[in-house]
Amino acid sequence: MKLRIWRYDLQLAHRWTIARGLEPGGPGGKTTSQVVFAELTDNDGLVGLGEAAPSARYGETTDAAVAFLERVDANRLSFADLASSLEYLRSLAPGQFAAKGALDVALLDGAARRGGRPLHTHLGLGFAENKHVTSFSIGIDTPEVITRKTRAAEAYPVLKLKLGSPHDRDNLAALRAAAPHKPVRVDANEAWKTKEIALQNLEWLAQDGAIQFVEQPMPASADLEDMVWLKARSPLPLMGDESYVSVKDVERCAAAFHSVNVKLVKVGGVSPGFAALHAARQAGLKTMLGCMIESSVLISAAAHLADLTDYLDLDGNLLVTNDPFCGVKADRGLLSFASAPDHLGLCVRPREMKRL
Ligand SMILES: [Mg+2]
Repeated sequence: MKLRIWRYDLQLAHRWTIARGLEPGGPGGKTTSQVVFAELTDNDGLVGLGEAAPSARYGETTDAAVAFLERVDANRLSFADLASSLEYLRSLAPGQFAAKGALDVALLDGAARRGGRPLHTHLGLGFAENKHVTSFSIGIDTPEVITRKTRAAEAYPVLKLKLGSPHDRDNLAALRAAAPHKPVRVDANEAWKTKEIALQNLEWLAQDGAIQFVEQPMPASADLEDMVWLKARSPLPLMGDESYVSVKDVERCAAAFHSVNVKLVKVGGVSPGFAALHAARQAGLKTMLGCMIESSVLISAAAHLADLTDYLDLDGNLLVTNDPFCGVKADRGLLSFASAPDHLGLCVRPREMKRL
């Protein structure tokens, strides 16, 4: 087995800012996001593709992901033996979930291709075409830009608005000026530091009438007692994201939230993602698959798990202008593999770059 890794800078269509990235006096946020692609090729020439989009929130960087991937002995990995391949990766170092996830995805892509089927079939799942709707995310910005972005996202039936800045009320009003009745999911990204502030904000948001749920109102490090207090009083359903890093968090999340957001880079790929979604449903939680800024490799990988979810927020590839791959499509927000360039494994292929 051969492993090839390379870095790639995804260019964002708009500056991307969330509560954690706010900088006093400046716009904060970022205009590019670096990912790392990993490609495994076995002795028969069969290829499996994966991607890491490490997040600083979880103490991970592309440098550390590359360093980890460079340590991997590809001869210890096999498309035919996922369990021992993953066991080997776990033995190399703790953490590094984004990098391990890249190889988990690449191994599953190769395994499903080897079996001549798409990844969801390989995993024993179905995929309901044109049923799963992804939200389209709008980051923290000025009210004028938010109105503009909302108009530009007219084709998407559900929006997700990032809150947690001093201008939350103006920003929601700006969205509503362009989309008065559209369902909106709100993500506070841990911004509201006390249960009282969080409840005040939830009561304000409930007046809107078309907010579906609110993600991570308080820090994941908040006392469980405070989160339970908030859940008991919240007029809107609450979703845990930063609080749900692995299946180990499921009991705590069931006490604090109504639903959880699973991301492949957070849990370490499709295999632990499957387990995290399943465990959440077993615990009575609703589930969503979310993402970071990612190319169509990771977005398509996650989309194969869509039948294990109640909501999807798989729009990372829709926010970038130079996605080097194409896979699952999200026309009008509806996920479909029907027109994917390939129907094996991840159903992903390199994008044909336009020639001048
Ligand atoms: Mg979130």
